[in-house]
Amino acid sequence: MFSVLSCITTMHVSDTDVPSSLKTLTLQGHCSFHDISDTAKDFGNRFRFSPSAVLHPKSVTDISATIKHVFRMGSSSKLTVAARGHGHSLQGQAQAPGGIVIQMQSLREPETRVHVGEFPYVDAPGGELWINVLLESLKHGLAPKSWTDYLHLTVGGTLSNAGISGQAFRYGPQISNVHQLQVVTGKGEIMTCSAEENVDLFYGVLGGLGQFGIITRARIALEHAPKMVKWIRVLYSDFTSFTEDQEMLISAAKTFDYIEGFVIINRTGLLNNWRSSFNPQDPVQASQFNSDGRILFCLEMTKNFDPDGSDMMNQEVETLLSKLRYIPSMLFQSEDRPFLHYLISNY
Ligand SMILES: Cc1cc2nc3c(=O)[nH]c(=O)nc-3n(C[C@H](O)[C@H](O)[C@H](O)COP(=O)(O)OP(=O)(O)OC[C@H]3O[C@@H](n4cnc5c(N)ncnc54)[C@H](O)[C@@H]3O)c2cc1C
Repeated sequence: MFSVLSCITTMHVSDTDVPSSLKTLTLQGHCSFHDISDTAKDFGNRFRFSPSAVLHPKSVTDISATIKHVFRMGSSSKLTVAARGHGHSLQGQAQAPGGIVIQMQSLREPETRVHVGEFPYVDAPGGELWINVLLESLKHGLAPKSWTDYLHLTVGGTLSNAGISGQAFRYGPQISNVHQLQVVTGKGEIMTCSAEENVDLFYGVLGGLGQFGIITRARIALEHAPKMVKWIRVLYSDFTSFTEDQEMLISAAKTFDYIEGFVIINRTGLLNNWRSSFNPQDPVQASQFNSDGRILFCLEMTKNFDPDGSDMMNQEVETLLSKLRYIPSMLFQSEDRPFLHYLISNY
């Protein structure tokens, strides 16, 4: 039996010949060599490294063929390959100076498919946006267990980092809620991995910053989606009270379903901005509040409930809020709203 390495002959293509050598590949998608400056940017807008080529894959085999092609160039080649999800990195992580960027959002297969049952899950392409995974899951009354706050990020992009939001205290980050991955390795092999199969690859790729393979499909754990949501924000000026309250909430047995804290610096008109989503508990006191330029800390929480369970939910919320030490006039609550309305107003 030959090892993969010994089967592969080394091609002699210099890095400067990359575009022409890529043209020899038979792909279902295509490679672009011009007008590719978009892939030299990211959300951070600080680093700009242009690749030589951008692959727009239509199939997993397009990615596999391209990586095999680069692998055959041998270890003397300095050519780099980077997967690009939605390009929301801040430090050029999805850029490949002079190399090849793979536009993961072009990969539409296998299409996102929800599996219902006792342990529901969704299979989604690596370049799919989380908002689309969520919307597809909602058609079956389901939702991913762990999200990001901002959902216009790709499955592969956040699974290469961690994927954190206000559900992480209960379920862990998104990388802890994946059953299985399909990955194209650095040699171009297409492999399936999980906690039982190709274990090193699985745990290497999850949170692996794109260094251990390209995620082409992920099997993501789902749960029943909430029907209704109450959404609350409270403000603190004292950091210790803020962190202690947050720790108390995340370790309580009966608590909120989403808990997240954030820092508010130099934001004028903050409360005005919240007006469309939140009502202050005490409008008069809230209107008189002046932060005097101080740093404030916000705890954001949601409680899910069924329409016929709103009384019990309100009691539970009141009990939890009574234990917190926020600025008394700085309690804001949304109208109870259906989950989909909450999503639309929040994302
Ligand atoms: C406005 C904004 C809001 C954010 N909100 C959150 C949040 O709520 N929670 C959170 O956890 N993070 C958040 N982030 C950070 C975000 O999760 C990371 O920046 C993430 O990497 C971006 O995903 P992306 O799809 O844009 O990936 P990209 O920036 O395109 O890629 C990120 C890294 O992953 C690699 N990669 C991309 N796709 C794949 C793939 N299929 N296989 C293997 N490697 C791949 C890239 O090569 C790169 O190294 C936010 C960032 C921004 C700018």
